[in-house]
Amino acid sequence: MCACRCGIDVHLRDGKVAYIEGNRDHPVNGGVLCAKGSAGIMQHLSPARLRGPLRRKGPRGSGEFEEIPWEEALALATSWLAPIRATAPEKLAFFTGRDQSQALTGWWAQQFGTPNYAAHGGFCSVSMAAAGIYTMGGSFWEFGAPDWERTKLLLLFGVAEDHDSNPIKIGLGKLKARGAKVIAINPVRTGYNAIADEWLGITPGTDGLFILALVHVLMSAGKVDLDYLMRYTNAAHLVDDDPRSPTHGLFLRDADGRELVWDRHRHRTLPWDDPEARPALSGTFNLGPTHAKPVFQLMAEAWLDPAHAPEAVSERCGIPATTIRRIAAELAEVAFERAITLPRPWTDFRGTRHETMLGRPVAVHAMRGISAHSNGFQT
Ligand code: SF4
Repeated sequence: MCACRCGIDVHLRDGKVAYIEGNRDHPVNGGVLCAKGSAGIMQHLSPARLRGPLRRKGPRGSGEFEEIPWEEALALATSWLAPIRATAPEKLAFFTGRDQSQALTGWWAQQFGTPNYAAHGGFCSVSMAAAGIYTMGGSFWEFGAPDWERTKLLLLFGVAEDHDSNPIKIGLGKLKARGAKVIAINPVRTGYNAIADEWLGITPGTDGLFILALVHVLMSAGKVDLDYLMRYTNAAHLVDDDPRSPTHGLFLRDADGRELVWDRHRHRTLPWDDPEARPALSGTFNLGPTHAKPVFQLMAEAWLDPAHAPEAVSERCGIPATTIRRIAAELAEVAFERAITLPRPWTDFRGTRHETMLGRPVAVHAMRGISAHSNGFQT
């Protein structure tokens, strides 16, 4: 009944729902069921529950409906939809509610032939998903999770209970059992924050400032995984930095549309995915009609600005500068001094095979609080 999508077993007695329990074999919840999930029986038995299709019989807005048989409802809907599908299916705009069946309804719309389908999506979650895709290549929260088995330090932003209820309960239990540290950043010490090892009562709407201050400290201290950024991210992509250029602010591309990097050994541009490329992460490069900087250079210029120093944001965040610096140091210590190596072969996007995986066991879980504020769309 929520975005967690826990598996359930529904037990019947005399053909009626008697009780609901968590499905012990389900990968999401492993048998755990929250009160809302148990209360699904109330929804099922509610006298207000729709039990068949309704057709409006009074004027629009009058609230007068009559129940009609499924056959009649389907014939009516088909009479509306079939001509559209036969002639111009894209003229169907299909919008559904937040009923957790959007995979199915979206698939239905695709089969119908319209690209014009959507469903309810809270800005809180959509912003998180978009930011995850832009920064890490995939949305997280309900579509992924911290590595609960290996995380040694977790930063937990905001509420999170309402959208990741049972999985995060199970995960936090694992962290606590292993002695991993949980730091909660939330204006109110509520819900999961109550079991955090440290709680930072941040001023609402300043999560982004706090995170950029952490980035500022980490960058200043050189605690950045440059090798990872260079090899596996777009941190080395060149951005047109000439304000007079028509492509100012955009990635530089070759004639085939591939983004370019500056190769440190050959002293020229190469496509970003060239297996031989040794991309530069910093510098300014003159490229004929324009000049360009790698993404990481622009990031460093922006975030090493004193405006992002802990001392500059402390008062607005309501968190002492010494605390921000200490959290950054803890983060760096876990990421770099307590890194883990997993014996897991993998192949990167250039086709290079690696026998092991390097893990930096810091995890961040964020839901409301980081994205639902006025400064949303940040990770
Ligand atoms: S967390 Fe609760 S309400 Fe959400 S899917 Fe799981 S059991 Fe249902």
